[in-house]
Amino acid sequence: MTLPDILGEDEATAAHRTRMRQLAAQHIAPHIEKAERLGMIVPEVRSAMAAAGCFGRALPVSCGGTGAGLRGFAVQQDELSRVWPTAAVAATWTNLSGLLLSKFGTPAHQDDLLRKAASGQALGAVAWTEPHGGSDAAGITTSARRVDAGWVLNGGKRLIDNITHADYVIVGARSDADAATRKGLSMFIVRRDDPGFVFGGTYDTLGLRAAGVGHFTLDDCLIPDDRLLGTEGRGFYQMMAMVEFGRIGVAAICLGIITAVLDATVAFLRDRSSFGRRLSGNEVILARIADLRVRLDAARLLTERAIRLYDAGIRCSTESAMAKLAASELSNDATATALHLHGGIGFTTETPVLRLFRDSPAFTIGEGTSEILRMIIGRDEFARAGE
Ligand SMILES: Cc1cc2nc3c(=O)[nH]c(=O)nc-3n(C[C@H](O)[C@H](O)[C@H](O)COP(=O)(O)OP(=O)(O)OC[C@H]3O[C@@H](n4cnc5c(N)ncnc54)[C@H](O)[C@@H]3O)c2cc1C
Repeated sequence: MTLPDILGEDEATAAHRTRMRQLAAQHIAPHIEKAERLGMIVPEVRSAMAAAGCFGRALPVSCGGTGAGLRGFAVQQDELSRVWPTAAVAATWTNLSGLLLSKFGTPAHQDDLLRKAASGQALGAVAWTEPHGGSDAAGITTSARRVDAGWVLNGGKRLIDNITHADYVIVGARSDADAATRKGLSMFIVRRDDPGFVFGGTYDTLGLRAAGVGHFTLDDCLIPDDRLLGTEGRGFYQMMAMVEFGRIGVAAICLGIITAVLDATVAFLRDRSSFGRRLSGNEVILARIADLRVRLDAARLLTERAIRLYDAGIRCSTESAMAKLAASELSNDATATALHLHGGIGFTTETPVLRLFRDSPAFTIGEGTSEILRMIIGRDEFARAGE
């Protein structure tokens, strides 16, 4: 019995899952090779995803989203990632930046930029990481100085998903140099055509080769006053309010990858024989498949718990960190095991396993590395013990 059966996926969610599965098979899979070669979400994929509501899945209906919340978003990310994790990554940043706009943006931002993001007309990015380090999120040094005409931003950002193609980017910057680290940070909306936004290029990456991961600088970038997003000095806390959503979303992507490679490996081994014996009956092989199955279901249960807490409006910093840690580390292990169990052909592009193996390591790094997540989980354990 599958976990969705036991956990009771309702009819609407099951139908949504089927639609996402069909979208991935019919409108995404045929274009992956071209998209990865060109390094972009090709128009055929972008328009099919937009028509299916992927870019606004978690956004409120009042802002042009589908109102499916985190559960609907997680189902989408799981299904898209079974076929092409890059499609899920593109949807991540438009949904995440859209959530920031819907929670903290002005009515004008919501009428214009947010609607365009939700419909897939405008692609978004969120830029926090800087060249000197990303794990210490409170330590960013990009500066924002208030001037008569608005704000002047200076600094550099790197490793930003979607930045190669984004129309706007939500940037974290220090607006008060004298305030204690967290309290001096604010968020700003920067548009690609703002004077002083200088796109620096796209990285040549191991995987996610069409995700447009790149870097940029802000050189005396002048933006109007109303591009401050939310409250000055609250940027760190506004960003942290999104972290649970982001981490559970990554867990869902990893569940999709693991499911895909496990299914592919079982299908490959089912009909294969060695030394006159079917490999599907070999004890060593069975043990490896069993371990993946057990860990996959455990990661799925951890993710389910985090989704339920989040959708009930309950803080789930530790639970979302646990879901992401378990799913992303298993994704690395599962893709490596799947590649190995495919034998030599696993080392080629003849099966989808190689691409998923390359894509996977991004997810133990982005949205909090495994070390940072372990720190959060470990600290919470001592806090609960009363230290
Ligand atoms: C594919 C991809 C997409 C990304 N997309 C975005 C994006 O859209 N927006 C964005 O802002 N960022 C993005 N990032 C950046 C990502 O968030 C950072 O890479 C991550 O936070 C780690 O920061 P860093 O690379 O500077 O490494 P560092 O912070 O310098 O860390 C280096 C290593 O040291 C470890 N480490 C750091 N501090 C500690 C500690 N206290 N204890 C133990 N170990 C520690 C880390 O876990 C890591 O292994 C992306 C990264 C990747 C790979």
